[in-house]
Amino acid sequence: MGEENRSIKARLQARNVSRREFLRFCTVMGATLALAPGMVPKIAEALESKERLPVIWLHFQECTGDDESFLRTSDPTVADLLLDVISLEYNEVLMADAGAQAEQKLEEAIKRYAGRYVTIVEGSIPSGENAYYCTIAGRTAEQILQEVSSQTAAIVAVGACAAWGGWPSARPNPTGAKGVYQLVKDKPIVNLTGCPHNGVNLAATIVHYLVFGRLPALDSYGRPLFAHGKRIHDNCERRAHFDAGQFVEAWGDEGHRKGWCLYKMGCKGPQAYYNCPVVRWNGGTSWPVQAGHGCIACAAFGFWDAMTPFYGRLPEVPGFPVEVTVDRLGVALSAVALAGVAAHAIATVGWKRATRGRQEQKEQEQEAHAAGGSLEGAAGLEQGGEVGDAQGAQAAPSAREREKPISNGDVEQSG
Ligand code: SF4
Repeated sequence: MGEENRSIKARLQARNVSRREFLRFCTVMGATLALAPGMVPKIAEALESKERLPVIWLHFQECTGDDESFLRTSDPTVADLLLDVISLEYNEVLMADAGAQAEQKLEEAIKRYAGRYVTIVEGSIPSGENAYYCTIAGRTAEQILQEVSSQTAAIVAVGACAAWGGWPSARPNPTGAKGVYQLVKDKPIVNLTGCPHNGVNLAATIVHYLVFGRLPALDSYGRPLFAHGKRIHDNCERRAHFDAGQFVEAWGDEGHRKGWCLYKMGCKGPQAYYNCPVVRWNGGTSWPVQAGHGCIACAAFGFWDAMTPFYGRLPEVPGFPVEVTVDRLGVALSAVALAGVAAHAIATVGWKRATRGRQEQKEQEQEAHAAGGSLEGAAGLEQGGEVGDAQGAQAAPSAREREKPISNGDVEQSG
């Protein structure tokens, strides 16, 4: 795309996008970003005053699932309007050009939009002596990433593979696969983890960047807090059954048919931070736990090694020894109903206190990190401030240097 028709407003008018449709998009974005409803008109105003954001979308070692996740969303408003808000300069999967023509487009885009474009990376990057495992037009993925990132304003790593290496980096990692943050140290990076990522979160991240002039606030894994600040377990519709000690014991049993908790079937929801239960999939229709399968914590760093076996039961819920709770509740409820109810009430209150304390501690740590780490001034317009400078977004690597890698000891290894 050339410099013509760069205004978002002009693009919306040219496509005859109705005001109602546009405001609905802004409402979905505001809700996903957890902004106050009063912010929706400000989002609309800010977007309409901007030029379309040039985007270069790179594909490396991956299955194209993140492209599919974005394109196959059944909510046309989000997918279509994001493509109105950005100007997709290069994407091997979607562009009509191929071969030398496509590579020429990439070089032109880097030159024309130097310092202004956002790079979306999908897939892991093989490194070292194995770098040649992913070679495009005679250059390794690592060389392409370094060239494109040298002129980019920010990087969005979509999916587990781009964020931390994903399943290509699972033991024994034959290609030396790495995530973007391990190779690019001097640019702002946001990790939209998940296998695949959720397209609504990508749209919200881009909208946040356009409206506020910087990437959204991040956690210690470089993931946006709006998408990864809350635990799956705390937003799960099966949570009441967990608290009541009602668990699925076998696939297809009565508890499964009644929608009881999947914890004993290996659900990793108690250790997973993602907005999956809120944003959901297929236009908000459903998500894995609603469909009857436990969460596999696909948004967690290292989940392929650390969260397997997927049907193995977690040893405990952070903040409270859940196995003890579950077993004690079962005994109490089956022995004496009244005693069971009392035990449940006590256990639930204790569990909630312990969990709340843990959650509050985590949120305080995140806020402290946001204030003093890579997120200075992250509150910004969310709290009524001014739209900032795109360069205000800080590089994520310093945050990730402090991260605690997930270890296999976090998950029970037997099935
Ligand atoms: Fe939901 Fe899983 Fe937590 Fe049960 S263990 S309440 S299914 S997230």
